[in-house]
Amino acid sequence: MSPDTAATAAYIVAALLTVMSLAGLSKHETARNGVVYGIAGMTVALVATVVLAADSLEAGAVALMVAGFVIGGGVGLWRARVVEMTGMPELIALLHSFVGLAAVLVGWNGYLEVEAVGAAQTTVAPELVGIHSVEVGVGVFIGAVTFTGSIVAYGKLSGRMKSRPLTLPGKNALNLGALVAFAALTVAFVLAPSLGVMIAITAVALALGWHLVASIGGGDMPVVVSMLNSYSGWAAAASGFLLNNTLLIVTGALVGSSGAYLSYVMCQAMNRSFLSVIAGGFGVESGTAAADVEGEHREVQADEVAEMLREASSVVITPGYGMAVAQAQYPVADLTRKLRDKGVEVRFGIHPVAGRLPGHMNVLLAEAKVPYDIVLEMDEINDDLASTSVVLVIGANDTVNPAAMDDPGSPIAGMPVLRVWEAKNVVVFKRSMAVGYAGVQNPLFFRENTSMIFGDAKKRVEDILTAL
Ligand code: NDP
Repeated sequence: MSPDTAATAAYIVAALLTVMSLAGLSKHETARNGVVYGIAGMTVALVATVVLAADSLEAGAVALMVAGFVIGGGVGLWRARVVEMTGMPELIALLHSFVGLAAVLVGWNGYLEVEAVGAAQTTVAPELVGIHSVEVGVGVFIGAVTFTGSIVAYGKLSGRMKSRPLTLPGKNALNLGALVAFAALTVAFVLAPSLGVMIAITAVALALGWHLVASIGGGDMPVVVSMLNSYSGWAAAASGFLLNNTLLIVTGALVGSSGAYLSYVMCQAMNRSFLSVIAGGFGVESGTAAADVEGEHREVQADEVAEMLREASSVVITPGYGMAVAQAQYPVADLTRKLRDKGVEVRFGIHPVAGRLPGHMNVLLAEAKVPYDIVLEMDEINDDLASTSVVLVIGANDTVNPAAMDDPGSPIAGMPVLRVWEAKNVVVFKRSMAVGYAGVQNPLFFRENTSMIFGDAKKRVEDILTAL
């Protein structure tokens, strides 16, 4: 078998494994297999790339490749081992930035090998140089937007940057202007490639990526993360065209389109316009602020909550980011078992953007062995909340905020929420009266049927278990 045929065969196997991985990851029951297929696909791709390239490479290049594997693989393994579940979203955002940076470097490499030295000295056929230049421009552009966009997303998710949207005057005109400038620069680059135009394309794209994500605020960040996931796929596909690597094109396109679809589904769940979010909050009025919320809250202790639960016939638990921070899923699972043993109907209501990662709560509950069939989506549980005796809001805030429905001026206005206040009693677990991720106060805390139980969620749920 010729090396080219072997490469094609290995790449088809790797691409199929990637498709099987995505299919596996779409359901709880098969997610573990999905991860195994993904690892297998990457291994086949890496081994095939190295083995096939080894013949034509100089010793220095092989040494660099090995060093890259050892250092990159080592850092990756170390980070994956030490990362807390709550730190996953920012780690993912950071990893997307690497894909973007890699695409920028591949694009620049393409320029240095072809346009910079002139068509006569390269392997690219003269009539294809124009197409190559378009690939360079587009690859660098998508890569650079992904790179800075992901860095801003990392900053916002890790709390190093404010989650509030940046609203520069004329922000939509700025974004549109950047796109027009990119198109004009790419045309200029195809007609007369030069270092100056390359630098200009890179600079415009870096600024656009930064501005796009900085303009998107708190509640819309989940969509941004999956959108950057999609961009990183397209960036990889663009690199695939430049490197003439079919596997990169196929896997990049798979990641790009599945990320775009996930963003679309999340926008629908959050009642946001997909186009508005991917265009950096296009059409969103700036300067809206939530009305001030005032009132008195009622504090309860663990034994009072235990009493409430003892008398309840149905309980719904709506977890949020605070459950992840406190790692409260284990005592929450114990509480669920205990109540079910007593004949109480217990179900979970999961908001599509609860936590900091799509599916964050589902992962935590699965980890603590909560049965899948009592974990329901927001739309499946919302109509049942009015006939529920007690709702336990464990470390959730924005996802149970009635202001999203009642206050058109709220930054989260229009986002569907879990209507927990319709239940007979609501108990909110949090450490203080602080606001949630979107920075909006929550009128739920001041409702008559709401009680607050303060402290670390894990500790408080354990106290309730003891009292029960
Ligand atoms: P929020 O982030 O709105 O609120 C979490 C609450 O948990 C806080 O009010 C905090 O209050 C409380 N908390 C924190 N630590 C603890 C602890 N140890 N024990 C008890 N309580 C604790 O949570 P939601 O899940 O309701 O909403 C998610 C938000 O994040 C949404 O705005 C969403 O748009 C955004 N987001 C979601 C992403 C996703 O993909 N799911 C990605 C990025 C952003 P206190 O400090 O008083 O304890």
